[in-house]
Order: sequence, then structure tokens, then C-alpha cells
Amino acid sequence: MGENRLTGAGNPVRRLSKTRLLSHLQCPRRLWLETFRPELAATSAATAAAFSAGNSVGAVARRIYGGSDGVLIDTGTDTAAALAATTEILEGGACGPLFEAAFEYGGVLIRADVLVPLRGSYRLVEVKASTALKDEHAIDCAIQNWVMSGAGLAPVSVSLAHVDHRFEYRGNDDYNGLLVECDVGDSVAALDHQVPGWIRDALATLDGGEPEVAVGAQCDKPHACPFKQSCWSAGARYPVTGLGGSKAKIAALVNDGYRDIRDVPAARLAGAAQQRIRAATCRGAARLDEAAVTFARGLAYPRFFLDFETISPAVPVWPGTRPYETLPVQYSCHIEQAPGEFTHEEFLELSLHPPLRALAEALIRTLRQTGPILTYSSYERRVIGILQNRFPDLAEALAAIAARLQDLLPVTRNHYYHPDMLGSWSIKSVLPAIAPDLDYAELEGIRDGAAAADAYLCAISAETTNEERARLEQQLRDYCRFDTLAMVSLLRFFESGGRPAGE
Ligand code: SF4
Repeated sequence: MGENRLTGAGNPVRRLSKTRLLSHLQCPRRLWLETFRPELAATSAATAAAFSAGNSVGAVARRIYGGSDGVLIDTGTDTAAALAATTEILEGGACGPLFEAAFEYGGVLIRADVLVPLRGSYRLVEVKASTALKDEHAIDCAIQNWVMSGAGLAPVSVSLAHVDHRFEYRGNDDYNGLLVECDVGDSVAALDHQVPGWIRDALATLDGGEPEVAVGAQCDKPHACPFKQSCWSAGARYPVTGLGGSKAKIAALVNDGYRDIRDVPAARLAGAAQQRIRAATCRGAARLDEAAVTFARGLAYPRFFLDFETISPAVPVWPGTRPYETLPVQYSCHIEQAPGEFTHEEFLELSLHPPLRALAEALIRTLRQTGPILTYSSYERRVIGILQNRFPDLAEALAAIAARLQDLLPVTRNHYYHPDMLGSWSIKSVLPAIAPDLDYAELEGIRDGAAAADAYLCAISAETTNEERARLEQQLRDYCRFDTLAMVSLLRFFESGGRPAGE
């Protein structure tokens, strides 16, 4: 295949892929930073979870579409090898489904998720882990269709397969019905003439200096940009993003040149919460209201500190469950029987069977009949509601538990702020301020809920060795226990009138 005038082939900086073109369509600055300043990128836990969901759905798609003669072009990141393998298979007259086939045209490389043989050619199926067709999917497919057509293999049709949220897994590895296909041929045809322009614009960006782009809605649409920290905060000690509230108003502050909360004029703030954050930040000192102290001192004994871990896999793992369904799999509970007298109970089962019933029964035993149950966010209430729906015979006991829940988050949000929290009341942001000796960074392996969910799914996989399972189990126990320990520290901090742990 000859190089045409659009191509950037030969120059790795100007070599484009579908992903890089999509980055440019989101924001020219994003493509430029990905190319020249990749070290500034910060992948969020949500992005990592979406990536993991995409991988699991992709693997199931290969089983659904593969039949007995599907071929995966598995060359890792070696694109030259993928192109050569694809050419060899197509020229050899293969007639089975192809996965991850590579094509290059106009300086753009694509990997086609699924090619299904049809009428002597192939139909293209792009697989997504989302539960609905989105506008950006048509653009994604249009780029692939344009490149494949230019490379000499115009798809007979173009479809997008996404997860059907109504699918219920029946077991036996039968995932037929997990994906639902939508024909996007008309949208692709309507976009086809725009693709050369997209390529030209992207190459022009790469030939120039760092683009000046105002921050705005595009930073989260269609995907969270990994350069938000760099563009929105630019190294500020107390970034204005910490003010919270309307994203459009924060973007306006950034675009007006304000980066640090301390520099924002009071007149530009919206509401009491932002005023409180700015005042504490300018003062360089925490603020604790008496209301939080009164709340903590007024709690009866025994006190329970509860935290759940859940999974919501795109590909259901247990019969009777649906894609992305939230399923509680673990809890930790610190119990303060009397002032300073603690015990700890927990639940975690790593068998191949669903643990939900056993978890619900254990929870009822752990939480006894009386005493406030402290949580940090309303998530635990939601999880108990899920268990109530699943097990009607336990609903009454679970309702009694729900009636005892006391959420520490609104108390903290309304009555405590430390400048180092940078506008976040997540327990991970609050903890360093109130208990410097407790640090999530010291945990091995798992440091957030998304990582815990991934670790759990890995631990229950039949392919995981016993040694690896034992290692993951310990990490899961340590992480969940740390979450409730953090709540214990927070309540003690409030009770003491704001004395950090250890003082
Ligand atoms: S954070 Fe926003 S402005 Fe910066 S590169 Fe990403 S999308 Fe562009």
C-alpha cells in the first residue's frame, strides 16, 4: 500500500492511530501533550476501571463471535507484526472471524475488534463496554471504516456491539446475549468525508507548538482527560478545583488565570462552602466546628464502624446477576464496646460461589441489635437496600440495621476542613489531616475501591493460583480494615475536639 499525501508514516511523532485521532477530536492540546509531555498524564481510578471493563467485554466478544475458527492477531504492541500477520491471513484466504486485525492507511493505524466473514468479505463490529450507543462511537467506527476501505478491505457493514444491561447470566459460561449490536452504517457514511480533515488537523497540531486551549466541558467529554491536573491546576499548592461547585464556574476561574484558591477574590466565590474553604486555606489552618464534637460525644455504645467493598463487573460472574450490577462481597466492622475498647469483625469469602447470602447473614450477626452504625457516605445504606431486595426473608433485620446508620460524611463536610484536603472530603483526603500516622500509601497493592474490586475478581478466578489468591486475600482484608480504622480515627478526632491521633 502506498503512502498518500496525508500520511505521517516514517515519523513516529506524526504517526496516528484511531485513539490518537480521537484524542485530537476531544482536544488538540490533549494529543499534543500525549505526544510530547506524556509524563504529565495521570490516569484516574475510574479510567483504569473502564479499561479493565473493556478488556473483559472484549474477551467475551471473542468467544461470542469466534465460533471454532476465530483468529486473534495477538502481537502485543508490535504493530508492524500485527500488520504483517493481518496481511498474511487475509492473503491466505482465511474465512473465519478475525480479532484485532491491523490496517494502516493515510498514516492512521487501526485495530479492528471483530471482523465477521460475510459474502466473501467482512463486516466490522466495534465492541464497547458501555451500555448504550454514544455519539463518539460513530466517529470511532467512521475512522476504522475509512482506514479499512483505503487499505483495500471495505467492510460490508459497520456495527457497534455494546453491553445489554438487561442480560441476566445463567451460568455455564454462556454469554450469548451479553452484547447487543446496532448498525451504525448510516452515521459512518455521513462522517466518512470528514476523516481526511481530522487527520490533516491532527498532523498540523503535531507540527506546531503546545496549543493554547481553554479548559472546559471537553475536559470530561467524551472521556476524562488525563491532563486535567496539569491544565486545571498547573502546579498550584491549593488548586482552585478544590473550591468545588459548578465546573463551568471553576473553568471560568482557571481561564481567567486563577490557579490557587488563595488568589481568588472573595467576590468570585459562590456560596458559603467555597467561602469556608478559601478562608481556611488563606489562614493555613483547619477549622472544626463544635457541632462535630457534640455529634461524636453524643453517640451511644456499642458503636459500629462499617464499610463494604463491592464489585460491579461488566461481565457477570455469578448466575442470576446482570452486567454492572452492584454486588457486596466484603465488609469490615470495628466495634467500640465501651470507650476505647475495640474488637474487629469482617467478612470475605473467596470461593467460586456467590457470597451475598452468607455476607448478609454474617452482617446481621456482626451488627447485633443496638448501637449506632457509623459509615462514611450513603453507600452502605444503598448496599443494605440491595441485600434487602435480594433476600426478602432478611429484609426486616436489614431494615432494622438501616435504621441505625449514622453517616459521618455530612458531619465532616459541614463541620471540618483542613487546607490539605484540597476540597475533597473523601476519607483518603481527610485522614492525613486528622491522623498523620495512618497512610493509605503504606498499604500493599490495594489502595482504593476500584483496585479492591479488580483484586477480588482476580482472586475468585479459577485461573488464579492458591499463592496469588492468598496474597490478594490478605491485601483485601488489610484495605477494608483500614477504611473502618480511618473512621474510628475520625470519630476520635472529633471527640477530642480536634486533637490529631498520637498527640
Ligand atoms: S485537560 Fe482539557 S484543556 Fe487540557 S488537554 Fe485535556 S481536554 Fe485539553
